[in-house]
Formats: sequence, structure tokens, C-alpha cells
Amino acid sequence: MAKKFIRQREQREKRRIARERVETLFTLAERVYPYEPELANRYVEIALAVQQKAKIRLPRKWKRRYCKRCHSFLVPGKNAVVRLRSRPYPHVVMKCLNCGHVMRYPYLREKKMKRGKKD
Ligand SMILES: [Zn+2]
Repeated sequence: MAKKFIRQREQREKRRIARERVETLFTLAERVYPYEPELANRYVEIALAVQQKAKIRLPRKWKRRYCKRCHSFLVPGKNAVVRLRSRPYPHVVMKCLNCGHVMRYPYLREKKMKRGKKD
């Protein structure tokens, strides 16, 4: 019984460290991107490896900042194109200019939340 609790605490600690590392790596990626985009991509690779190993979720902030296919760090206006589309459903289109991969993110929930606030 006691052992189980210790293991749980260890797991929590591991995840906390992993989250910190992911945060640091993405922050670094953003910082070095203008000078060394290759290094930024490397940081993304490492951050994703850490995230997968610790089985944690990526913070919302960074979730859409990399390409799901080639794992490049994406900077709108630099190596990514961002467009809003309302049909067939409201979504953000993000295209990676490195590999041409297109990602779509619905923003229906955000829209509904906005509407909810107005009422
Ligand atoms: Zn890509």
C-alpha cells in the first residue's frame, strides 16, 4: 500500500519535471527560431519525445506551434500560413510551409463560449 503511494508521488514528480522541460524547450525554440530554425526544430523534437515518454498533455499555448507531420516549429508569417474559414464549420487553417501539411482547428467551442458570455 505504502509503496503504491510512493510510486504515485514519483510519477507526479516525473510529470511535473517533464512539463517544465517541455515548457523550457518550446520557449527556447521560439527564441532561437529567428537565428537557427534548425535548432528550433530540434528542440520541438526533444519536447515531443519528453511529452510522449511522460504521457503528459502539451500546454494549449504550444499545441499549435509545431507541424504535426514534420515537427517543425511554426511561426505564422514565417514558415506557416494561418487562415480563418467559416465553412463548412468555423475553423483555423494552418499550413506548414516546410512540408505543406495542412492542419485544421475548429473554433466552435470558442465561438459558443463567446456567445454564452453575451447572453
Ligand atoms: Zn510540416
